[in-house]
Amino acid sequence: MRKKIAILGSTGSIGTQTIKIIKEFADDLELVGITAYQNHKLLSQQVQEFSPKFAGIKDREHAGRIRDLGSGTRVFYGDNYIEEFIDQCECDIFVNSISGIYGLKATHQILLSGKDIALANKESIVSAGELLKSVAKRTGSRILPIDSEHSAIWQCLQGEDHDHVERLILTASGGPFFGFTRKQLEQITPKEALKHPTWKMGSKISIDSATLMNKGLEVIEASVLFDIPMNKIDVLVHPQSIVHSLVEYQDGALIAQLGVPDMGQPIQYALFNKQRKKTARTSLELAKINKLTFFEPDQSTFKCLSLAYQAGRAGGVWPAVLNAANQVAVDRFLKGEIKFLQIPELISIVMSIHSNTSINDIDEIIQYQNLAKRTALNVKL
Ligand code: MG
Repeated sequence: MRKKIAILGSTGSIGTQTIKIIKEFADDLELVGITAYQNHKLLSQQVQEFSPKFAGIKDREHAGRIRDLGSGTRVFYGDNYIEEFIDQCECDIFVNSISGIYGLKATHQILLSGKDIALANKESIVSAGELLKSVAKRTGSRILPIDSEHSAIWQCLQGEDHDHVERLILTASGGPFFGFTRKQLEQITPKEALKHPTWKMGSKISIDSATLMNKGLEVIEASVLFDIPMNKIDVLVHPQSIVHSLVEYQDGALIAQLGVPDMGQPIQYALFNKQRKKTARTSLELAKINKLTFFEPDQSTFKCLSLAYQAGRAGGVWPAVLNAANQVAVDRFLKGEIKFLQIPELISIVMSIHSNTSINDIDEIIQYQNLAKRTALNVKL
């Protein structure tokens, strides 16, 4: 029996790379459902190629056109298209590669359903990690990380005793502005910030990589997923993006996972839940890379990373507030409303306006995030 895969966000960077893996392992994996927010052209092509049983897209007209393709696909649309899709789609694993804070509801619903989730949407874990984990524990749903760093740590932890872990080290490429001074960052344009040196990704995560907020969110995500306190998680800038992360054990051993900067391996590892399958993708040739370098991150220039540590250590609603404020700050930067260095400034202001509090359910988190978003939209810099 082939494993049935459904992808939320199938037209994005992770979505399309997941489809490549499904094609490579067509004897083991079957694509049964796909959704997109608005890229109806690519979604149509995917429907034509795979004739999945289920699809979803926001716009009703787009949905109609996809239905007319004659593939027999059931197409959900409208405000609740993702909810209905998750509710109806018969699959073994949902891949959540929705971008940004909009992925939280979907992650929650999937975990409630008891099905496994291959998770690329780190924002849901950042906002509501402990709550989501307790839902997963109750329903038996497994959270399989797709983020390359978390996949690396997951791989480095296999066969080891959790109590023997001394610290986690997440590597960061440093983004396009590694080594820049604050002066050099003042006039950065969205176009420059979108150009990532080693990974090709969507716009939200590309900007997050340029500000180092992506690494900050990943530190919080790692703390939740692997049950390791924030003060035992460090970040190292590693411009080649070959070492995807490391685990240090109490006997001084550092275990690292290496590979070419390609999301194929982490996606494959998650879809097969740790089973190692032979791939045709190119392997890493270290002699050609020649040199691997590592640096301390510059947290006084890239303030987003220290803000994330602050929010993660504080816990409560702050990681969710940080996340929401960052989402708006990135949107406002991309629209040209604020400057690059104002991204952390805006987040810091929103965090200082919203006092921290503990949280009890997902709806409460969503309410706080909406509040933080409104504040972030209205703050004048
Ligand atoms: Mg990552």
